Amino acid sequence: MRILVTGGAGFIGSAVARLLVLERGATVLVVDKLTYAGDRRSIHDCEGKHGFQFLEADICDTARMRAAMAEFQPDAVMHLAAESHVDRSITGAADFIQTNINGTFSMLEAARGYHDGLEGDAKARFRFHHISTDEVFGSLGETGAFSETTAYDPRSPYSASKAASDHLVRAWHETYGLPVLVTNCSNNYGPYHFPEKLIPLIILNALDGKPLPVYGDGSNIRDWLHVEDHARALVSVVEHGKVGETYCIGGRAERRNLQVVQTICDLLDQRRPGAAPRRELIRFVADRPGHDQRYAIDCSKIERELGWRQKQSFETGIAATIDWYLANEWWWRPLREKKYSGERLGLVTEK
Ligand code: NAD
Repeated sequence: MRILVTGGAGFIGSAVARLLVLERGATVLVVDKLTYAGDRRSIHDCEGKHGFQFLEADICDTARMRAAMAEFQPDAVMHLAAESHVDRSITGAADFIQTNINGTFSMLEAARGYHDGLEGDAKARFRFHHISTDEVFGSLGETGAFSETTAYDPRSPYSASKAASDHLVRAWHETYGLPVLVTNCSNNYGPYHFPEKLIPLIILNALDGKPLPVYGDGSNIRDWLHVEDHARALVSVVEHGKVGETYCIGGRAERRNLQVVQTICDLLDQRRPGAAPRRELIRFVADRPGHDQRYAIDCSKIERELGWRQKQSFETGIAATIDWYLANEWWWRPLREKKYSGERLGLVTEK
């Protein structure tokens, strides 16, 4: 397979690129603008490997996307490039509207022109796979779970921009016959996760003896999935998913934010005992505006239809993630030094 991966220097895109290049022997072109969240060091394992190429470009540049597709001749586009941090979308939504909505429009137009020009098997094979989030569905109460038929109800600038992009993708299928696939996944964690996101922020602040900011009372619930399990789900969808369908992907691992933070503290205390238990570093901070209370995913469709199963439980995955951060300071330390430890976003103000 020849696969064009947008956002392949980011957290999930780099896991997809590694899986495709190192395990599947696919030919991969990563297209990435290298924003603050993109880092070529995240795909260092792929660099120099047979069939791996990198293009530094903005997905909003439709002419460049058209040219990239014409030259690379992909069998599939896996579209992950996005602005992805909810807190940043609240302090400044412009980049989210530009990349997540206009950028997806640009990718769809480039893919439409490319697909229209294909013939025979190449045309039948082509897929445009749009990678999205469960946040488009809004917030759940105590019970229930999101599924492929849940109505959209986005509540943050980030989730609204992703919802808009999902609608565009479906419209390009219905209107122009573009062979699309859409996936909506729950919260990911794992290696190469940018240090501003909850799990790496807590691991690294706890290691450095800094305050561990927890929004509100820490009762918000997220469903966590290891990024390598998400990457395997995405590859199975692009290979075997039914055109025009949506697949929800989740970890069946609902945890309160406070529980996640406490688990990280306890695992770090075992690995690197400090002067005092790290739970003492926890600080409850003013809640995020419009903070969704609970997310949960019913992933029975992808399990039933494509036979996907996650391999890592939250307990084994989080322990492995902590060990990865302990072993890979070369990756995260320079990013932390650029001041992404949470202060910039006001996250360490006590409530
Ligand atoms: P990320 O922020 O780690 O990576 C995004 C990548 O996109 C970066 O490499 C960045 O440089 C690149 N990018 C941004 N704007 C670009 C542009 N205009 N042109 C080209 N490249 C650009 O994000 P992530 O966590 O890896 O998320 C990837 C995708 O998965 C996103 O679409 C996100 O909405 C979705 N998703 C994320 C999660 C999660 O928990 N992180 C869960 C479900 C879905």
